[in-house]
Formats: sequence, structure tokens, C-alpha cells
Amino acid sequence: MNIEQLREDLLFAPKNGYTKLTEQQRAEMNAYCKRYAAFMDECKTEREATTWAVAEAEKHGFVAHIPGKALKPGDKIYKNNRDKSIILAVIGSASLNEGANICAAHVDSPRMDLKPNPLYEDAELAFFKTHYYGGIKKYQWPTVPLAIHGVVCKKDGSRVTVNIGEAEEDPIFVVTDLLIHLSADQMKKPLAEGIVGEQLNVLLGSEPLEGEGADLVKLNVMKLLHEKYGIIEEDFLSAELTIVPAGKCREVGLDRSLLGAYGHDDRVCAYAEMEPLFQMGIPTHTAVCVLADKEEIGSVGISGMKSQAFDTFMQDLCDATGASLNRCFENSFCLSADVSNAFDPNFAETCDRRNNSQLNYGIAICKYTGARGKSGASDAAAEAMYHVRSTLDKAGVTWQIATMGKVDQGGGGTVAAYMANRNIVTVDAGVPVLCMHAPMEIVSKLDCYMTMLACKAIYEA
Ligand code: MN
Ligand code: MN
Repeated sequence: MNIEQLREDLLFAPKNGYTKLTEQQRAEMNAYCKRYAAFMDECKTEREATTWAVAEAEKHGFVAHIPGKALKPGDKIYKNNRDKSIILAVIGSASLNEGANICAAHVDSPRMDLKPNPLYEDAELAFFKTHYYGGIKKYQWPTVPLAIHGVVCKKDGSRVTVNIGEAEEDPIFVVTDLLIHLSADQMKKPLAEGIVGEQLNVLLGSEPLEGEGADLVKLNVMKLLHEKYGIIEEDFLSAELTIVPAGKCREVGLDRSLLGAYGHDDRVCAYAEMEPLFQMGIPTHTAVCVLADKEEIGSVGISGMKSQAFDTFMQDLCDATGASLNRCFENSFCLSADVSNAFDPNFAETCDRRNNSQLNYGIAICKYTGARGKSGASDAAAEAMYHVRSTLDKAGVTWQIATMGKVDQGGGGTVAAYMANRNIVTVDAGVPVLCMHAPMEIVSKLDCYMTMLACKAIYEA
């Protein structure tokens, strides 16, 4: 018996993606990651990603969808959902009754949102009160450089865009932490309680205005905001201002094989979906790219994946091409493109190594997410997994298997379940991430590139 041959024939032995990467692919990968990093520098919120997607789509011949207008194969359209999420489509040559090929990612990320009445002064320092958005480890957010991003709908009816902390000459902001010298009590607390939600207050200033009375530091901050943006304190009620880590997407490591940035989850998959769609000719099946909001808080709300905004758009496409929405959904496929947890040898005990994604092993395919017995997962069928596996193999994409950590260690969800609820066959897959949901997340360039190739292959399947 030839044991070596038998081993090769029968056993699954994934290899590091670099063992298969050609020189041409390496060049493409590096160019792709430069473009991705530039996207990340401009887009730290769902609004910014949506604005970016609209502008870039229009450069590539996409037009805003007009309900009722007839569509033909090759037409490129998008629906901007209230500046918070976007759906893009390229009409295929086959009827929508035969289904669409959908890639769905999200463009919101965990962060700290301002409370509706955020500005206050304490001990002659001015602060913003925040309420964190999505799952964060609160102790990670003090003493890192922060920026303010968002919009304010002002009393006069106009809307102003705010961005402070990204330009070199801008000030940054910070949440304070206690000095180690006085931390005897804090250091005895569990990590989850070392910094609590009501301590995530953002330091804004310390200089009082000249004059009499209370809150002269706060008044100075409000005066500066008024000078720059024309806003008054009451306007915070109709604002979405959010505190995110300041700074750019950077290469990580001496070999520069990794990228560090805020919010790879899930803009790394959002970008991977967009590029191949922008370059597309006339696909067989209609290709649909979804960039959803609110995934980090349960895909709720008008811009989340549970919203009927998606159904309305797809109904419009079906109406414009004489197809049935039910048939379309029944025959569609959705790649729920979202990140997975990359194996971290520093925390090996939290994962089942045989079933965990690892940096540089390619796009991570995840049969189920969820927690405690797969609860909350869409749990893809064997046939659905085969579709992805065979499509990626045919396209020469490096892929691997992923699960969300050890059984009963924790868990997570994606938009997959909400697509599957619509009677759309759905599989999760995406880029493995280290330090997910931290102010700086790490991905590998190779996995980013392979995820883009995977989205392209799924659109073309
Ligand atoms: Mn995600
Ligand atoms: Mn997430």
C-alpha cells in the first residue's frame, strides 16, 4: 500500500495560500489591497461607505434606479437607501425567475455613538456622553486616538457633514483611563467592568471662555462647533455623530503581509463585493451587491438586512423585467460576505483548531454561525456548501473552513439568517480577522484578495 498516495487521495490538507500564489497574483493582490486601504481611509461609517459606493458606481456607469423604468441585460443600477445602505445590481441575460447571484456584506462597525444630549462640563473639562454601538470590549477604547464622524440635521433644515480628527492638522479626541498608580481597585475588577459604558466619555476641551457663570469650557466647545458647522446644542437631537478610531489603514508586519485598520468588519467584504461588480459585463444571472447597515446591532431598522428595502428593490427589478419576486428568491443564491475569527495562538484555547479559519488560508467558508447549539444561525445545507466549494474551486480561489470558536465559548451572527428567511439559499463566507471589533483589526492581504475573487466567482456562477 502506498501510504503517501492514499494520504493525498483521501485526506483534507489545506495549505497556506502563499504556497499557491503566482507572481502575477501577488502583484494583483498588492494593487487590490492599496485600493482597499484607500477606501478604508475614506469610509469609517455606513454613511461614508454608502456615499463612496454611489460616487464610485456612477464612475462605472451605474445609475440611480427609477421604479417603473424597464430594464434590459447589462443595465447597471443602484438604490441608495437613505444614505445609510445601498444595493447595486447588474441585470443578467437570464430571467430573474432563474434567480440572482447576491453578495451581501455590512458597512456599519462597532463604535461609540453620541447620546442625544451629549455635551457636558465636569471639573472644568468638556466631554461628550456616548452609548456604544455593537459589541465592544470597553477597556480597549480609552487612550486611543479618536475622531468624530457623522451628520447633523440643523434647526434651519440643512444637513451638515462632520469629520474631525482624520486630517493631519486636526485635533483628535480621547477617552481617559485611570493611572496605574491609583488602580488598585480597578485592576481587581473583571475585564468587563474595568471600564463601564458610562465611563466612555470623550474629552473635548479644557479652556474656559472669558466671563462669568458656569460651564465656560462647554460653552467654548459649543462656540467652536457653531463657528465650524453652524450647529447649536439642540441640534444634537437630530444628529448622528459617532466616535471612531482616528487614523489610516496601515500595513502591518515587517513583511507587510497584513493590514491594520478600524472596521475591516465588514468593509473588507463590502469592498470585495464592489470591485468585481463595477468591472462586470453582462452576467448570466443578475448580480446583486448589498451593503447593509445595522448588522452589528441585529440587522434591525430601516437600513438593516431585515428591512423590506431589499424586497422592494428586488420587486422593482422583477417588475421591470417581467419576473416574479417569489420565483426570483426561490432560485437565488446569496453569499453572506462577513468576516470570521482568525486563529490567534495567544488565545488558542478559545478555538477548535481543526475547524477554525487562519490568516493566509483564503476566504473562510462558514456553514453555521450562532451560539449554544447553532442558535441564530442559518446553518447552510450540504448542497449550498457544495455550490460554494465547487464554484470557488473552479475559479481557483483559495478557501478554508471556519467556525466561530469552541462550542459554547460564545458566538455571533451575520445577515445570513435574514436572507435565508426570504427563501434564498445562503452561505456565510469572508475574510478572517484578528482582534475583531477592537479599535484596530488585522486582516491578511492574501485573504482580502481571495475574498474579492470569490465574490467575482459567485456573481458569475
Ligand atoms: Mn460582521
Ligand atoms: Mn461584527
